[in-house]
Amino acid sequence: MTEQTEPDEGSNDIRTPILAVVGRPNVGKSTLVNRIIGRREAVVEDKPGVTRDRVSYDANWNGRAFTVVDTGGWDPDAEGLAERISAQAEVAVGLADAVLFVVDATVGITDTDEAVVKVLRKSGRPVVLAANKVDDQRTEAEAFALWNLGLGEPFPVSALHGRGSGDMLDAVLAALPETPEETIGHELGGPRRIAIIGRPNVGKSSLLNKLAGEERVVVDDASGTTVDPVDELVELGGRTWKFIDTAGIRKRVKTASGHEYYASLRTATAMERAEVAVLVIDGSQSISEQDMRIIQTVRESGRALVICFNKWDLVDDERRYYLEREYERELVQVQWAPRINITARTGWHIDRLIPALDAALAGWETRITTGALNSFLGRLVAEHPHPVRGGKQPRILFGTQAQTSPPTFALFTSGKLDAGYERYIERRLREEFGFVGTPIEIQVRPRE
Ligand code: GDP
Ligand code: GDP
Repeated sequence: MTEQTEPDEGSNDIRTPILAVVGRPNVGKSTLVNRIIGRREAVVEDKPGVTRDRVSYDANWNGRAFTVVDTGGWDPDAEGLAERISAQAEVAVGLADAVLFVVDATVGITDTDEAVVKVLRKSGRPVVLAANKVDDQRTEAEAFALWNLGLGEPFPVSALHGRGSGDMLDAVLAALPETPEETIGHELGGPRRIAIIGRPNVGKSSLLNKLAGEERVVVDDASGTTVDPVDELVELGGRTWKFIDTAGIRKRVKTASGHEYYASLRTATAMERAEVAVLVIDGSQSISEQDMRIIQTVRESGRALVICFNKWDLVDDERRYYLEREYERELVQVQWAPRINITARTGWHIDRLIPALDAALAGWETRITTGALNSFLGRLVAEHPHPVRGGKQPRILFGTQAQTSPPTFALFTSGKLDAGYERYIERRLREEFGFVGTPIEIQVRPRE
């Protein structure tokens, strides 16, 4: 997975930190963005709410590179101005490492500004407050009133003349993380968390026994009594792995038909605590409704996935023929998952599980730099533009990987994308960057 996690040239960061600029229309956001990037690239119009073509800009201050995103103009579904700006702030905090909140000091605090503050506070993201349009000493006092927003020190600036922008940018750099926050899927250095799932009788406990040995290496017992171990620590390939909710497997609670609901609940809860699922399917039998429901649970959980076809000793040529067809038809939604064929009873091919788990976890935690993602998106659109819909052609303006575990992408567009086009983007992302063993989430943010 090295090429896609490699840092951008000349930078030690995995990606450059992102600063989102938020504020009401006409407070001077674009003018300030121009000031920050030192170019007259962003369009400034006197009309409020003018839409712009570009949204992200590379900036550099005191030798540190960061990306500025102008969030003006997105309107998910909100109605009034306050709702629109709050929604915009929500988008901003979802993708940014820090927020620059711009207020017009000559106007003072409005209800809309207060609404934005609520969103920003809740997010816990660092916020720098710019009191704009402080063009001279005389108006500086007006900036002080903005202390009442409760966001700390307001930085008086004049986006138009440049006054005070140096101090504000110093504060921005202080707010941006040196290395952007990673979503850490597991406690650092702790064991990887695995859930073995599958319907009854597919061979889960046989697999667990083969992996752990009949003797449990360590019992990680949450309740303090050793009667009913919940998780087990197992040493495999020189590393310790934590198997989640093995009690459910060891106790062999054979689910009577009416209890399938509880079995699903147990699966869902185990998934919640795990990083990667090992889905065991009985290869000797047709893939069932129940298998499909479990696959659905895994997909919804956003966890990494490895698929094990067990009881391979019982799979003859004829069964194999049908199994491959069922696999292509029924498991089309999870074709990205590494697949292994095993015989848990004898231990045949069990050594293939660890490399498969490693691959799936690596895919799950892959981070694409903002630069690499946008050059990829540029190529993708050039090769295959979105079809024209109602005389308009939605365009992708900017993308960023908002999260890992699982990889989650936010795409800023000039209109809604067809579901088919979203699938195309996912397919191309996988071709380009791998993402073995992990679901991918794509969040489209159309501009109105
Ligand atoms: P946006 O809608 O928040 O992006 O605001 P703009 O950057 O388009 O600016 C709105 C208007 O305010 C424009 O007419 C700008 O020239 C003006 N403006 C922006 N910054 C300043 C400033 O620092 N001082 C003054 N006096 N006017 C400004
Ligand atoms: P669980 O309910 O998913 O935990 O399944 P078990 O591990 O209890 O296995 C159910 C039955 O399948 C038992 O009779 C096992 O001996 C049998 N079994 C498990 N793995 C294999 C295998 O690889 N080959 C064969 N032939 N039988 C297996």
